[in-house]
Amino acid sequence: MTADLKVCADSKGRGCGLALPRDSFHRLKKSSDGRHSLCKSCRCEIEQARYAEKAPEILATTARYYRANRETILAKQAEHRVANGDEINARRRDRYDEHADEILAAKRAHYAANPEPKRQAFRAWRAQNVERDRERCRRYHAKRRATA
Ligand SMILES: [Zn+2]
Repeated sequence: MTADLKVCADSKGRGCGLALPRDSFHRLKKSSDGRHSLCKSCRCEIEQARYAEKAPEILATTARYYRANRETILAKQAEHRVANGDEINARRRDRYDEHADEILAAKRAHYAANPEPKRQAFRAWRAQNVERDRERCRRYHAKRRATA
């Protein structure tokens, strides 16, 4: 076996048995070679089957962990965002450029199905910004008069 290839198999006899490049295996710090013993596709299949069977338990465990560690999780996310903001924004822009139509259609569909939170947010904004809202209305009506 070449040094860069690794066979997909674990101690429970699972895995496709193929010799694959190292980056076909997820990283795992605690393992001797720093990678999982099953390839990404095999793990994906196993995890999907596990989720299909135990979704409620898994969601409950995740929610419990989040509640117990909320502060730490939010701090780590904020730290990550500060350290990688440019990269994150670039990835978002690329995704938007590529899928603008789908993203806008999904937003419209979501708003059509859930108009209340946005309306409520607008009413709250208007209550805090009376002057700006008046100006906004004035511009809106001026534009309508101009085009009528
Ligand atoms: Zn595999």
